[in-house]
Amino acid sequence: MMSNSLKFILDECIECQLCVEDCPFLSKYNWMPKDVARDLLNELDQNKRYIMECLLCGLCKTVCPKNLDFPSVIAHARQSFSKYVANEIYYRLSLPDDSLFFPKAYKTYKGITYSFPENGSFKYIFFPGCSMSSYSPEAVKEIYRGLREKFYSVGFADTCCGKPLADIGLTERASRWLSNLENHFIKHGCRNIIVACPMCYYYLKKSLPRSYRILTVYETLGEMLIKETNHLSLRVTIHDGCPDRFEGIFAAQVRSLLRDYKIIEMKHSRKKSLCCGAGGMASIADPNLTLKLSSARAEEFSSTGADLMVVYCYTCAQIFWSTQPDIQTKHALDLVLGTRDSSEDIKSGEINNLVAKILMEQI
Ligand code: SF4
Ligand code: SF4
Repeated sequence: MMSNSLKFILDECIECQLCVEDCPFLSKYNWMPKDVARDLLNELDQNKRYIMECLLCGLCKTVCPKNLDFPSVIAHARQSFSKYVANEIYYRLSLPDDSLFFPKAYKTYKGITYSFPENGSFKYIFFPGCSMSSYSPEAVKEIYRGLREKFYSVGFADTCCGKPLADIGLTERASRWLSNLENHFIKHGCRNIIVACPMCYYYLKKSLPRSYRILTVYETLGEMLIKETNHLSLRVTIHDGCPDRFEGIFAAQVRSLLRDYKIIEMKHSRKKSLCCGAGGMASIADPNLTLKLSSARAEEFSSTGADLMVVYCYTCAQIFWSTQPDIQTKHALDLVLGTRDSSEDIKSGEINNLVAKILMEQI
């Protein structure tokens, strides 16, 4: 199966290099997907660590005239390679079934707790995702209040969708995580999952049985999300998240939500958006690559002349707050709800300090 997809890339790639231009991973090595495919036909030993540097962002597939699905080839190769990295501490911090899972440690450190109903049947469950529940607890509570107002019976799941496990290539652990999640939904008799994060949205939609309905907070609450209208004079630009690249559901819903703002598009937006640098856990394999991408994004933002870069993924927000503290970045939900995010704490180095503390405790 793997060698078939590698051979397909070798046969079909016309070496036009269009995918290399905007990809920091391919351009770092001056490779085309064909070069990687040729190398992966050999034994997948520890020397193939470079496959962890691909952001799985999908941009190469979007620009490829042959529509070659190179990210799937990398994702597949990672399934065999993950055994070499799964026990490394930086990967462990990203894995929701590991005792070192960072969002859990962060919420404990910040004293963030949620006291929503845990028992009973719910027609809907709000699933904010681990980044939002860490970096914007006020927005989580505000949205939950709105959902209760609209549907009355709404459950809550403060957990991870499990995508980091799948991204690294730990398929068995990802399946186990998913079936635990599904048991949680079954226990509450719930088939409607309302998410805020594009990663959760597309991952759960692809992975859960089709009988589940995955809904966005934007389509569910619409105008009810707008509580703060004092900043409508702002000129904003929107950083589109990679998981939304092909379907554009969040891109359209967020632009509709922000229609009263002056929106100035960046050169790379929607289908051609650039990754913030966090995709595919690449920031662990090569933090410089993440810095390069977030700097490129910061430059594009500056060239629009906009006052604010709006994101709709809290992982993107965290990357920009950490690596580009001088640019104004806000999540669309905090902008319209008027809720306080963790940007100032993160800009002051809170995440690095906590990671350093966790590392010290492991020595
Ligand atoms: S998925 Fe993104 S990072 Fe990976 S090769 Fe394609 S464009 Fe480059
Ligand atoms: S864009 Fe497609 S055809 Fe062109 S080099 Fe990349 S993979 Fe090959």
